[in-house]
Amino acid sequence: MLFGKNINRYYIKYGPRLLLGIIALIVVDWLQLVIPVLYKYVINGVNNGYVNIDGTDVPFDMAFLLDKICLPMILIILAMVICRFLWRICFFGAGINVETDLRLRMFDVCKDLSQEYYQRNKVGDLMSLFTNDLETVQDCFGSGILMFADALFLGLLAVIKMAVMNIWLTLLCLVPMVLLFAASTVIGKYMMKKWEKRQAAFSSLSDFSQESFAGIAVIKAFVKEAKELSAFKKLNKDNEKANVDFTKLSVALNVFVTLFVESVICVILGYGGYLVWDKTFDAGQLMEFIGYFTAIVWPIMAVSQLIEMHSRGKASLSRISKLLDSTPDVIDAPNVTDPGSIAGNIEFKDLTFKYPGSETEVLKNVSFRINAGESVGIVGRTGSGKTTLVDLILRTYNVPDGTLFVDGQDVNTITIESVRRNAAYVPQDNFLFSDTIENNIAFASDTNDIEEVIKAAKLSDVHDNISEFTEGYKTVLGERGVTVSGGQKQRISIARAIMKNAPILILDDSVSAVDVKTEKNILQSLKSIRGGKTTILIAHRITTIENMDKIVFIENGSVAAVGKHSELYKNCKEYRKMVDLQKLDDIESSNGKGA
Ligand code: ADP
Repeated sequence: MLFGKNINRYYIKYGPRLLLGIIALIVVDWLQLVIPVLYKYVINGVNNGYVNIDGTDVPFDMAFLLDKICLPMILIILAMVICRFLWRICFFGAGINVETDLRLRMFDVCKDLSQEYYQRNKVGDLMSLFTNDLETVQDCFGSGILMFADALFLGLLAVIKMAVMNIWLTLLCLVPMVLLFAASTVIGKYMMKKWEKRQAAFSSLSDFSQESFAGIAVIKAFVKEAKELSAFKKLNKDNEKANVDFTKLSVALNVFVTLFVESVICVILGYGGYLVWDKTFDAGQLMEFIGYFTAIVWPIMAVSQLIEMHSRGKASLSRISKLLDSTPDVIDAPNVTDPGSIAGNIEFKDLTFKYPGSETEVLKNVSFRINAGESVGIVGRTGSGKTTLVDLILRTYNVPDGTLFVDGQDVNTITIESVRRNAAYVPQDNFLFSDTIENNIAFASDTNDIEEVIKAAKLSDVHDNISEFTEGYKTVLGERGVTVSGGQKQRISIARAIMKNAPILILDDSVSAVDVKTEKNILQSLKSIRGGKTTILIAHRITTIENMDKIVFIENGSVAAVGKHSELYKNCKEYRKMVDLQKLDDIESSNGKGA
């Protein structure tokens, strides 16, 4: 049994099913306790030649055996099989439903969490919540209720039957059981701590594996396989230790249970034997008593397993609850409006920005305006704040009030969804899904029209490459699109953004991996289709953006100059220096090629 804010609701949701399971379980428990009475009849019948039933002596013959022993036994077994099947379906089915529902809730929360959350929390850690921890909670819910109910009803019924037979023998049997319960509770507390450590060790291990597989190309290129292996060995060892620590306690608990159960058998044989000698009990009654005790051995074992399971389940549920209770930090302010479609005017007004948890001002007093329909190039050194600028337009992070305006409205007064819906974005890492190229390009659009997909691919100059693949647009890309080159990846990402045909298009360093001719084709295409729509292009090469309507030159988080290329070249010393240096570089590299 597992209780907590995020799980209590399922006891109500699946209440009727759980109740049916409990009823079936009680029937099984009750039937199970009829069997020791049959033992008594057989033992006494064999010893005496008759059986005393409710004060009447009945001869122990074939008819008695068939009517009073075999037939009831067959009926008991049949009823037990049916009821066991029923409670299994009820309890385990509910457990699986809880797991499915929790997984959905977790994913639902995950999709709303900000980018910052994913920078703080590792993917491997999250994955272990979705696998290991969920499985533990499911196990604890289904098997937990079963064990709890079984231990309670079977244990209680058997103890009552034992007490009715002989109160002193029963009390003697219960003393070791009480000690066992106390020992189990103490051990259970330690087990929970060990389980938490075990889960943390597993998370680190899966996180490391995930990162190593993702970065396998870098590891191989730098011949760091051995280093990776030794780091993995250490984490694997930590995981092993955490597992062993937990298993040690689990084994200790099991040993305790066996010890106490065996000691109770000694008590029954010793004192019970005396009672038979004393004629308080006959042999059949002693057998019946032992039958009841045998019936409660499983509930006692179940209690220890329940304690272990509960410790694990509680630790896993608390990890899952931490995720479920996380609140997204980038959310709409109250009373925001949805402007529907937007024209594409963007204005920064004296914007200063620090990343959450950081003291450094990444953007300082940024002010400039982009008019709807303009094509704007953003240039500046690496780390000057270009990506941060577009991230703020897309509301990836919270923006200070009164500093960023879209179509004249403070971006904090309109819904985040409306801003993102009206923008298409080609991020620097050009992430592609493990899906067909067609679906990757059509990802942001409402339609999967192949004609539109091909049109977008032609505009981003990647159609010829895609056509060369045997499966064409149906080619399935590997994880993170590893089967295509960096340049092809960039162009497929551009096609995805082009197909969305949004009022604002943002390309972050998106033509860096293509050759000059391809870059020219893409820029030409953009010019032809983006008339009247805002296009923002972050670039390193001045040649990429020199023909744009406006260039924003960023230096150390501040806007150093805004204007046309010719104006900036004439009026801004730093810009001129950068352009001249790039020209020099281009000349040197073309001379190098010629040599
Ligand atoms: P650019 O795109 O011009 O190369 P960025 O906008 O990516 O520059 O980064 C600007 C500065 O912000 C850099 O110093 C970078 O280290 C820092 N930065 C980027 N992302 C984060 C983040 N998530 N948290 C803290 N600092 C960040």
